Amino acid sequence: MMAARFDRIALIGIGLIGSSIAHDIRAEGLAGHVAISTRSAGTLKRAEELGLGDSYHASAAEAVRDADLVVVSVPVGASGAVAAEIAPHLKTGAILTDVGSTKASVIAQMAPHVPPGVHFIAGHPIAGTEHSGPDAGFAGLFRGRWCILTPLPEADRDAVARLRAFWEALGSRVDEMDPAHHDKVLAIVSHLPHIIAYNIVGTADDLETVTESEVIKYSASGFRDFTRLAASDPTMWRDVCLHNKDAILEMLARFSEDLAYLQRAIRWGDGEKLFDLFTRTRAIRRSIVEAGQDTGLPDFGRHAGDAKG
Ligand code: NAP
Repeated sequence: MMAARFDRIALIGIGLIGSSIAHDIRAEGLAGHVAISTRSAGTLKRAEELGLGDSYHASAAEAVRDADLVVVSVPVGASGAVAAEIAPHLKTGAILTDVGSTKASVIAQMAPHVPPGVHFIAGHPIAGTEHSGPDAGFAGLFRGRWCILTPLPEADRDAVARLRAFWEALGSRVDEMDPAHHDKVLAIVSHLPHIIAYNIVGTADDLETVTESEVIKYSASGFRDFTRLAASDPTMWRDVCLHNKDAILEMLARFSEDLAYLQRAIRWGDGEKLFDLFTRTRAIRRSIVEAGQDTGLPDFGRHAGDAKG
């Protein structure tokens, strides 16, 4: 089996995802040394207080020096600038990866900076919560979740195998995908649901005939589940929308068509159409529970630290 351990790992960005990776690296003994860097002095200090690594660097360029694995965990819109900053300091033979929620844009931003001899393999763990920052991370976030790697066709297969082994050591199952395909899949399973949630919570907030206290008081009837998604990090989701524009617009167009169909069925009292759709969708929920991606408990089985994609 391919070794998942690296002598030196650099974590650039230490929010929810970066700090969860740090917890797992420690728990699984996956690095000789973990060097951490983040944009702000406040977050860096917090990472140090939490004991997430072995060394802490205000400069990302300094943190990646001599690292065998570099994991960039910043909002996708910042990927290009981070790559430009660290690229000249990457060690030959190092693996450079990221965790961003969009892949074609991240690759377009980062790949041009990557020097020859460095293995750039973009990735995306399908796990998260609506919380952000270094305090939000925890060991085990990635356990039982998928991680999608989107290596370019010319990627070094040994490096891909090492990165795969690393994610497997974190408890993930790993798939490989073409970046454009990843962006389409995630547009429907993650990006659209978040956009719908932001929209519905915004609509409720704008209503004049229903008071805010009523929306909150009766939220357990369905609204509450949207508010969890709509509480996700604004910077992260702004960047996802801006950096997966085409796939999201394509899915939104499909969604609008289907919504119009549903609207028409309601207008015309077409109970059969409504019943058929609601039966079909219930089966999808059952498949998700059967695949181990959620529990079948009432209330969607939500509890503290429950993971989402
Ligand atoms: P987070 O908790 O908000 O942490 C963001 C990190 O990026 C912090 O270290 C922050 O630094 C740094 N950062 C923010 N803006 C930056 C900029 N303009 N330039 C350089 N660094 C910057 O975010 P996260 O949830 O860990 O998300 C990180 C990445 O993981 C994103 O690309 C996101 O798409 C992806 N992802 C998120 C989830 C999820 O559910 N949250 C799931 C899978 C993948 P300071 O605090 O020092 O400013």
